[in-house]
Amino acid sequence: MTIPALELNDGTSIPQLGYGVFKVPADETERAVSEALEIGYRHIDTAAIYGNEEGVGAAIASSGIARDELFITTKLWNDRHHDDEPNRAIAESLEKLGLEQVDLYLVHWPTPAKDDYVHAFAKLIELRDAGLTRSIGVSNFLVPHLERIVAETGVTPAVNQIELHPAYQQRDIVDWATAHGVRIESWGPLGQGKYDLFGTPAIADAAAAHDVTPAQAVLRWHLQKGFIVFPKSVRPERLRENLDVFGFELSDAEVAAIDALDPLDGSGRVGSHPNDVN
Ligand code: NAD
Repeated sequence: MTIPALELNDGTSIPQLGYGVFKVPADETERAVSEALEIGYRHIDTAAIYGNEEGVGAAIASSGIARDELFITTKLWNDRHHDDEPNRAIAESLEKLGLEQVDLYLVHWPTPAKDDYVHAFAKLIELRDAGLTRSIGVSNFLVPHLERIVAETGVTPAVNQIELHPAYQQRDIVDWATAHGVRIESWGPLGQGKYDLFGTPAIADAAAAHDVTPAQAVLRWHLQKGFIVFPKSVRPERLRENLDVFGFELSDAEVAAIDALDPLDGSGRVGSHPNDVN
């Protein structure tokens, strides 16, 4: 099976579907990532704060898969934006991952009350230029944060990784990203299981029409919207299910029906508001 790749604005490419390891316990990560690599995943999304980079690294090392076939993302945590902390943080992440370079390094949250995200992003530009990461991006950035880093550094991030699922579509950020050539990565693509997304008629009906599960219909919606996704599961059967989303296509009407699920009042958010995280 071939997972489609999307080109990023710096000329690199990223597999559009991967495996995210948020909340995968450290002692289960090597097994889970090994399983994922075994069945065909090639893109892994982790973060320093997840505490499981070593498990990701162990799975990569024992996989035998060529480094250039893998796409590995990790993230700079909030208390390490200042001074040369990003340099130390990426060195620690690379050590744990057993890699010389990651494919994508992200500022995890803007932490606007500390007002140090422009400095953090400027440090990421240096880290990219030094070859420690191929691409750089941000996560949980709102439009004013994005506008400010571009204005003050002159560099546009390759991606913005934001909470995004049918109940919370963040159209203002998606529109800005589309206009500026920034790819959107959807975190919590299945709503982290906190909503009855799967029982919603637009999703359940699309799933039934294509003889797939509601989770597969939701993942297919993300892919057809052009978003990058990396759903999390530690169950082998769900890892397979979440990868098996390239054999059907939602119709325009089915996509539009899922588009219509966001009430636009912010009530679908499952995570923290970026301005409240510091
Ligand atoms: P998700 O929407 O992928 O939900 C994961 C949950 O959905 C699982 O725990 C499981 O219970 C359920 N699930 C998974 N596959 C399923 C299936 N086929 N059928 C039914 N239920 C299924 O949410 P997530 O894990 O929060 O997000 C995915 C990834 O996004 C994370 O692992 C992480 O890499 C990233 N993330 C980033 C941030 C950030 O701040 N940048 C925040 C949260 C998550």
